[in-house]
Amino acid sequence: MAQITKHFDVAIVGYGPTGATLANLLAECGVSVAVIEREAAIYHLPRAVHFDGETMRVFQAAGVAEQLNEKVRVNPGMRFVDQQRNLLMDWPRPQGIGPQGWHSSYRLHQPDLEKLLRDKLTSRDTAMILTETEVVSVEDQGEEVTLYCRKAGDEHSTMVKANFVVGCDGARSLLREAIGSGMDDLGFDERWLVVDLLLKRDRPDLGDHTVQFSNPDRPMTYCRSPENRRRWEITVLDDETDDEVLQTARIWDFLAPWIGPEDADLERSAVYTFRSAIAQNWRKGRLMIAGDAAHLTPPFMGQGMCAGIRDAANLAWKLALCVNGETGIDLLDSYQAERAPHVRTFIETAVRLGGLINTMDRDTALARTEADCDGKARMEFTSPPLGRSDLASLVVGNTPHTGHLFSQPTLSDGQRLDDAIGYAPVLVVRHKLPRDVVPAMRVLDGEAHPAFADALDEIGANAVLLRPDRYIAASAMTQTDIKAIAAMSLPTPYKTIIEREPVK
Ligand SMILES: Cc1cc2nc3c(=O)[nH]c(=O)nc-3n(C[C@H](O)[C@H](O)[C@H](O)COP(=O)(O)OP(=O)(O)OC[C@H]3O[C@@H](n4cnc5c(N)ncnc54)[C@H](O)[C@@H]3O)c2cc1C
Repeated sequence: MAQITKHFDVAIVGYGPTGATLANLLAECGVSVAVIEREAAIYHLPRAVHFDGETMRVFQAAGVAEQLNEKVRVNPGMRFVDQQRNLLMDWPRPQGIGPQGWHSSYRLHQPDLEKLLRDKLTSRDTAMILTETEVVSVEDQGEEVTLYCRKAGDEHSTMVKANFVVGCDGARSLLREAIGSGMDDLGFDERWLVVDLLLKRDRPDLGDHTVQFSNPDRPMTYCRSPENRRRWEITVLDDETDDEVLQTARIWDFLAPWIGPEDADLERSAVYTFRSAIAQNWRKGRLMIAGDAAHLTPPFMGQGMCAGIRDAANLAWKLALCVNGETGIDLLDSYQAERAPHVRTFIETAVRLGGLINTMDRDTALARTEADCDGKARMEFTSPPLGRSDLASLVVGNTPHTGHLFSQPTLSDGQRLDDAIGYAPVLVVRHKLPRDVVPAMRVLDGEAHPAFADALDEIGANAVLLRPDRYIAASAMTQTDIKAIAAMSLPTPYKTIIEREPVK
């Protein structure tokens, strides 16, 4: 006999970082959410150690950034070295607060983040969390979706009903299967052993940079994680089995050039197959996928999880508008149109970096990274704009900055932009709006908040209409165009407008 739980606006399958972030953003919008997770506890094997400033900004919207900031390290950058430890290529990361209002690159312990996201969601009253519960099948009935779930140790199945379902259910996604989507393979397929150590004594000589050891016999990576945790990632050769390389003695053999058991304890290890792939379809009807369910990247840029967090930020406000009846469900087509080309750029760059780690000489290194380097073996990477969507000017206008991420200036009272506005649209203008213009959203101007004038100078515009995910919906130079975008009235995803402190 199936037990039916109550009906939700959105059900999320999978409580990894993508699902937990999406659930928090939807809950911020007043949307009721059910999260269904097969496992009892947070995933225990080594995974993400890096994220970027844009991702921190999404965590800010989800309500966990300040606490997360206590648990992370600012990352100085990544270096590629040859077998003699000569520098092949440098990718330094700025050490100050960047345009996103946060540092541009952080080191983390993924379970710390997941715990914060889960604690935050548990504190909200619009979310129901079912752990140790596996979704076994999904039925989209047109007006709503039914999920059939099995709870560990319970002979009865549970039905969860929702208006929309998002599969944040990882690489072997059931939701992707339900959508009927295949994966486009972008060509990377390598087994790597991943090892986390806990230092027993300080080892400053290991350094704070990520180091890619470009050794064609056995490429390896070293990462400086927060506190006393250190990560090594080691290529597994074709003739080696997983069991063989996971032997403790074998792991210490690999690490012998750097460290031994007298200095550190082996915390955890796992063999992963790193792949590069993008799902062909991210939505069918009321079913969607996000995170690893939609794309897989080798970890050489530290961006797999970040991509899932961007999916969540792109999708949550659109789903909230659909749930509130502010817009038709076709708006959700813009999700894949915008996100898929964006994540593809990251995956292709990560695959090129993977190729670089497998080379040993500087010239080959440079040739392989032509698109990324300035010729001095110093890597630069600029995040691309979103893919273009022809859908509704609600999502994108047709102005030069549409689809670019806007910075996060600080208001004159010291508050960050997003803290003042929340996960909602905002119009940023250089000068106060003329009295006859009545915008449908919050407006901030560069006369009251000089940092806004600087941010507008950066991109050469006099006004920008920002979406809740802080990508630019439209920009304007002239008074006429400013009036036009002020009249676009991007609706708010909040069910009830959350009253915040008035912005001075
Ligand atoms: C070694 C390694 C290093 C990495 N380093 C980085 C890095 O530095 N930076 C970075 O950004 N990314 C990194 N990544 C990638 C990152 O860890 C993943 O992209 C991220 O964890 C994916 O999150 P997710 O929420 O999409 O999926 P997952 O974390 O896989 O979560 C999916 C969840 O869905 C649940 N689930 C699945 N099916 C069902 C079902 N039918 N019913 C109920 N629940 C279900 C699973 O139990 C799981 O909890 C790394 C990955 C690896 C392996």
